[in-house]
Amino acid sequence: MNKLQNKIAVVTGASRGIGREITKQLASEGAFVVAHYNSSENDVKALLDEIKKDGGEGISIRADLSKPETVSGFVEKLSGELTAQKGTSKIDILVNNAGIVSYNSFAETSEEEFDRLFNVNVKSLFFLTQKLLPQIADGGRIINLGSVVSRIHFPNIMAYSATKGTVDVLTKHLAAELGERNITVNSVAPGAIETDMSQWLSSDEGAQTAYSMQALKRVGQSSDIARVVEFLASENSSWITGQIIEASGGTKL
Ligand code: NAP
Repeated sequence: MNKLQNKIAVVTGASRGIGREITKQLASEGAFVVAHYNSSENDVKALLDEIKKDGGEGISIRADLSKPETVSGFVEKLSGELTAQKGTSKIDILVNNAGIVSYNSFAETSEEEFDRLFNVNVKSLFFLTQKLLPQIADGGRIINLGSVVSRIHFPNIMAYSATKGTVDVLTKHLAAELGERNITVNSVAPGAIETDMSQWLSSDEGAQTAYSMQALKRVGQSSDIARVVEFLASENSSWITGQIIEASGGTKL
């Protein structure tokens, strides 16, 4: 408890799935959380109610990250709200979690689909990090959500996998550039995790597909990822930077 006392954490895509669990986990360790969302307003309200009921603190801010031009407005709003609530616009932890997937063969992936994937998963992440960087405290943490599919082949998600490969590259390059400020930059690369994004996992057949790839024979949950993010956000990870930490139950070892 309280490993993140007095820290301010921004989590994108906090309304559902992995981001929701990460936000809860960071708040439970004492961080003030900024829960970003796009369309799931009721879900993010319910999340903040839950956090506050458990003694935590936070606010929510909306932005559609499929339109990278909204990033500046998001940063402005975030700074204003943080200053109003906490007397500072300083951030200690940025978790770039928001993401989308689309399933299509290589031949049938359209340019529009490709652009949408790259806008949300890469371009918004790049420019949000760039614009927030002056506010990120020295000694801070940037944690990106990658995916096991930047290492292994999985059918019909080539464009999505390419976005996650790009996230790996950005993680290493940013880590090298921000080391002088003692800011660590790492990625967590989940395997299949049961969320809205991976609904196929909820059927018996889907679960069997996961087991056939994994060393550990159970379905991965958002909490499996949230605990890794909490570790990377904490002082305990202070000597780790530029790394892709795979949390996949040992997928295709
Ligand atoms: P999810 O349940 O589908 O949730 C996606 C989150 O991203 C939601 O909070 C959603 O916000 C937000 N989001 C989607 N489109 C957005 C947009 N245009 N603008 C702003 N926010 C947007 O996904 P998840 O499974 O938790 O995935 C979280 C991260 O983990 C992603 O980066 C994903 O690629 C990665 N990942 C997931 C898996 C998996 O198996 N689930 C595996 C590997 C990696 P709203 O609901 O408010 O619109």
